[in-house]
Amino acid sequence: MSQDHSQDHSQDAGAALAEGRGRSAGARSSDQAPSLRPSLLDPLFAPARGLPGIGPKMAPMIERLLGTPERPARIIDLLFHLPQGGVARRLMGSISEAPPGEPVTVGVTVTGYRAPQAGPGKRPYRVLVEDPTGDITLVFFGMPAPRVEKMLPLGSHRYVTGRIDLWDGHRQMVHPSRIVDEAGFAALPAVEPVYGATEGLTSRAISKLAHAALDRLPVLPEWQDPAWLRQNGLPAFAEALRAEHKPDGPPPPVATDGTVPATPARRRLAYDELLASQLALALTRARSRRGPGRQNAGDGGLLGRIEAALPFALTGAQTRALGEIRADLGSDRRMLRLLQGDVGSGKTAVALLAMASAVEAGRQAALMAPTEILARQHHDRLTAMAGPLRLRLLTGRDRAAERRATLSDLAEGQVDIVVGTHALFQESVAFRDLGLAVVDEQHRFGVHQRLALGAKGQAVDILVMTATPIPRTLALTFFGDMDVSVLDEKPAGRRPIATRLVSTDRLDEVVAGLGRALQAGEQVYWICPLVAESEYVDLAAAEDRFADLQAEFGAVVGLIHGKMPGPEKDAAMERFAAGDTRILVATTVVEVGVDVAQATIMVIEHAERFGLAQLHQLRGRVGRGAKASTCLLLYRGPLGQVARARLEMMRETEDGFRIAEEDLRLRGEGEVLGTRQSGLAAFRLARLESDGDLLEVARDDARLVVERDPALRSERGRALRVLLYLFERDAAIRLLGAG
Ligand code: ADP
Ligand code: MG
Repeated sequence: MSQDHSQDHSQDAGAALAEGRGRSAGARSSDQAPSLRPSLLDPLFAPARGLPGIGPKMAPMIERLLGTPERPARIIDLLFHLPQGGVARRLMGSISEAPPGEPVTVGVTVTGYRAPQAGPGKRPYRVLVEDPTGDITLVFFGMPAPRVEKMLPLGSHRYVTGRIDLWDGHRQMVHPSRIVDEAGFAALPAVEPVYGATEGLTSRAISKLAHAALDRLPVLPEWQDPAWLRQNGLPAFAEALRAEHKPDGPPPPVATDGTVPATPARRRLAYDELLASQLALALTRARSRRGPGRQNAGDGGLLGRIEAALPFALTGAQTRALGEIRADLGSDRRMLRLLQGDVGSGKTAVALLAMASAVEAGRQAALMAPTEILARQHHDRLTAMAGPLRLRLLTGRDRAAERRATLSDLAEGQVDIVVGTHALFQESVAFRDLGLAVVDEQHRFGVHQRLALGAKGQAVDILVMTATPIPRTLALTFFGDMDVSVLDEKPAGRRPIATRLVSTDRLDEVVAGLGRALQAGEQVYWICPLVAESEYVDLAAAEDRFADLQAEFGAVVGLIHGKMPGPEKDAAMERFAAGDTRILVATTVVEVGVDVAQATIMVIEHAERFGLAQLHQLRGRVGRGAKASTCLLLYRGPLGQVARARLEMMRETEDGFRIAEEDLRLRGEGEVLGTRQSGLAAFRLARLESDGDLLEVARDDARLVVERDPALRSERGRALRVLLYLFERDAAIRLLGAG
C-alpha cells in the first residue's frame, strides 16, 4: 500500500475504468461472488475453444486474440469482435484500376512461373498473371513450387484476392489471401468481413468461427423500447450481430480517416453497450443515495472564519461550487459529487471548506491523494489554511509509533481532517465519525475504492476532485453516477503561458536558451518522453538527458522519476522547491498536482507522444506565480497531420475542456484516457467518437428505467437484466438484491 502510484498510469486508469467496463469485470475481486447469470446466456459465456474447427494450433491464437490472463476467450468475445469492414466479392477491379495497398479481388489468367533463383537468403516463387488491362506478379515465400503450381495451373483462370503493391514499378501481390476458381468464386459470400486484429489468424478463419458462434446465439428478449428502435431504424440484437459477421450487402465505404461508418447494426450494438453501462451507473447511483444521508453542515460559523482567513477571496466559480457542495452536505441525501477544475483552478480551497463544513457538524473528514508526494503537499498547504482544524497525515511510509498514534487519535476524534494515500483504506484505519471523504484525482481511483472509503463511516458524503478535463461524453461514461461541479474560472492574476513548438533538431538552441534563463533566475521542468512500453527504457532516457544537462549546467540539475524510493523523490522535489536545483529532469511523475510556484519554464520532449490532456496537465505546472511562463513542446518531425493539429491546439488555447474535446475528436476515447496502450478500451462495441451522441440518450433512458422500475421487475426490466449480464455488469445486478 505504500508504493507511489504515480508511474502506474495506464494500469491505474485501466483498473479504474475496468470497473465500469465489461470485459474483465467478472474476474475482479468485488465480482467474485457467484454469478446469478441466467442459464439462457450460458452458451455465450462458454469457452470459444469448444467451437467446431478450433484445433490445437488455432486455440492458442484465439486465446491471444480474445482471452485475458483471467479468463479464456469465450463465444461472446468472438461475437463482440466485430469486423472492421468488408471486401465485396465483386470488386470492379481490373488490374490497371485496382487501387494499390487495398484488398481487391481480380480475375486473372496464369501466364508463367519464375522459380526462385539460387543464392543466399529466402527467394520467393513468382507467378505471372494478367487480365486484359495489365499484369501482376503473385509472390510466394517459403511455399513449395508444386503447391503453388497446383493452385495456379498455367493457362487457368483464377480469382485472386489481396493487396497490390508497386515494386520496382511493377505490380505485385504478396501471398494472395485467397485464390479460387470459377466454381469457388460462385460459392463465395457476396461480402467477406475483414477483421482488424487477428493475431496470425486469417480474417476468413475468424469469420468461420464467428459464424459458428452465431449458431450458438440463443433467442433473447428485446430490452430496447421497440418504438425507439423502429423510429431509428435499428435491428434486433441478434440481427445486428449477424449483419456484422455475415454482411450481405456491399460494405459501406470506409472514411478517409479510416473510421468505420455507423451502420444501423453498429449503432444498435453500440447503443446496447452504452445502455448497459449507463444502467449500471444509474443503479449504483440509486443505491448510493438510497437510505438517508446525514447532514454534514453546521451553522457556518467555523466555515466563515476559515474562509475569511484565506489569503485570497474565492473566485466566483469556487463560491458556486462550494454552494452546490454545501447544499448536498446540508441535505439528508448522500452526496456523490465530482469537482472538476483545471490545474490551478483552486480545488484545494474548496475541498478544505467542504471538510470544514463536516467538522462543523461534529464529524471528521478525510482527503485522499493518489501519491505520497501529493498527500504531503496537500497536508502542508491545508495546514497553512486550516486555522483551528486539527490535521494529520497518514501514509504508508509512517513509522509504526507515529502511525499508532494517528490511528488512535482518529478513532478517538482527536483529528478533524486526515490527509493520506491509499493507506486510508486499510482495515486498521477507523474513524470516530467520518462525515465526508474527498478523493483527489479520481481517474486513478476506481468505484470500488470510492465505496471502500465511503464504508469507513455512516452514509459518508463523497467529493471527488479531478483536474483532468474530461469531455462531457467521457464524464458521463465514467462518472455518470455523480453530480458535477465545475471550476471554470482561474484565480485572478494568472499570466498566460507562451507555448512554442520546437523541433528536436534545435535542441542545442533550446539548451542555450535555458542557460540564459537560468542566469535570469528562472526554474525549469524538463519532462522526458515516454519512449517505450517499458518504464525502464523511459528511465534510461531520463537519466541520459539528466547527464547531458548536468554536463552543461552542473549541480543545479536534479532528477526525479517514478522508480526512485519515496524519500528520495521527496528530497528531489524539495531541493527543487527550495531552489537548490533549478532544472528538474523528470519522467511524468510531476504530472499530478505538485506545486512549485516559482517554476516558469516547462520543456516537454517528444511532446507528440503525449496525450493532449497530459500535455495540458504538465504545462499547468508552470504559470502558477505572477511571472510570465513558457512551455516548449519539443517534437521529433516530420509530424503527421493529426499530430501537428494536436500540438497546434496546445499552442492555441489553455482551455482544458476545449483541449480534451479536441483530443477526443482527433484520437478517440482509448487514447484520450490512456487506456488503449494497456489494451483496455472503455467499450468493446461503442466508439465514443462516433457514438457519443447515443450516450446521453442512454443516460436518460437508464435514469428513467431506474426511476420507474428500480428493481428491474417489469417485462422490460427483466430483459434489461439480461442486457446487463450480457455486457458483464453483474455487479450492478447484485445491487438489486434478491428478486
Ligand atoms: P488545483 O488543486 O485546482 O490545481 P490549487 O487548489 O492547488 O489548484 O490552487 C492553485 C493555487 O492557487 C494555490 O497556490 C492556491 O493557494 C491558489 N488559489 C486558490 N484559490 C485562489 C483564489 N480564489 N485566488 C487566488 N489564488 C487562489
Ligand atoms: Mg490539486
